[in-house]
Amino acid sequence: MSVTQSGARPSDLLPASILGLLGSRGPMTRAELAAALRVSAATITQASKDLMARGMVLELGQIASAGGRPARPLSLVGSSGRIVGVKVTATHLAVVAAGLDGTVWQAESVPFEAARPDALDQAARSLGAILDGIDQPVLGVGVGIPGAVDSLESGVADSPTIGLHNAQVGAALRQRLGLPVLVENDVNALTVAEQVYGVGRTYSTYLVITIGRGIGCGIVIDGQVYRGAGGGAGEIGHIPMVEDGADCPLGHAGCLESLIGSSGLMRQARQLGLGQVVDGSASFDREREAIRRLAEVARRDPAVAEGLFGWAGGWLGGAVAGAVNLLNPEVVVVLGEGSEQWDLWQPGFEAAFRAKLMASRRSIPYLVEAWDEDKWALGAAALVIATSFDRDGATGYQGELVRERLSHAASGRRRPQARV
Ligand SMILES: [Zn+2]
Repeated sequence: MSVTQSGARPSDLLPASILGLLGSRGPMTRAELAAALRVSAATITQASKDLMARGMVLELGQIASAGGRPARPLSLVGSSGRIVGVKVTATHLAVVAAGLDGTVWQAESVPFEAARPDALDQAARSLGAILDGIDQPVLGVGVGIPGAVDSLESGVADSPTIGLHNAQVGAALRQRLGLPVLVENDVNALTVAEQVYGVGRTYSTYLVITIGRGIGCGIVIDGQVYRGAGGGAGEIGHIPMVEDGADCPLGHAGCLESLIGSSGLMRQARQLGLGQVVDGSASFDREREAIRRLAEVARRDPAVAEGLFGWAGGWLGGAVAGAVNLLNPEVVVVLGEGSEQWDLWQPGFEAAFRAKLMASRRSIPYLVEAWDEDKWALGAAALVIATSFDRDGATGYQGELVRERLSHAASGRRRPQARV
């Protein structure tokens, strides 16, 4: 993984590259690091000695190496700095503080009203209070938003679903927090987390499908998240599926999300005569609760299982097969709050997915990951660690600031956090 196109590697980036690689692939020997970073073994030996002296990297027990000489793999010390991730929703911010290795040390949910005119001030105040309580150097803050974000660095977001329009999220938070801030579409951020801490350790081209209130898709091609020209790639939910369906929140009739996003599932349930199950909830997160109740009914009643979740799985399987035919990934990952009901989605998905794949791709595997809400926020936090191996400069000056803070954290120096 080379940091600059020319292969030249400014020496101050090498420690960050080593940390990024150990963060993304897990423990590696010095020889493996040298090969991956295309530098000499002596360079890695010196850099890793420095990182070990600073307490960021440790040497694990001896393993037999291919050459017969025993080798000791190096591993990240996850506690040597914190990365903070924020998932923005219409009603709250999910916030995590994690170690460099992705271990979540702290998770909080704070109120947030996206529709308020001073929403960004409110967010900055809440985040500032959380950051003040973290007793480790914080490398930066990643923010995931359900909508289109112009670039990670500038962080201007448009999110019709939660009511943010042309919101200067990056600039506002940076100014108030005095830390590097990276902003990304939430599904793309989750995809970065897979790249750094998940399937990215094994695969380089894959799709991350999220099911829940919306239907999303993150696309990784050759180890890079594909954002599209305006940061809006991967909107699999808005692929048109039927001629005269209901409208989705963006106003398309009959798109995938209008069919099988949470509100589409609830509409289908009403059509199956399950209206009282759907509408019997007054709670704050009523869609999610309604889907859970429908799943309980479906687990007792095979006709509901097939007519509702199996039906939804069929639509999803067809759409994902289309994406696989188009992009030829090695694997598909399915996650999101809807994966709680995957046992019910799976039969319909499996049948439609395999039937609609091109013959040469019919054996592609898919992985379904257990879900908890903090994963969205961890995805946003992963944006920060991912900057350490940002070879395309996509994170710009914010990425440089993260790497600078990383070297300060590595040297054991604490910097006072500026509050502008
Ligand atoms: Zn749509």
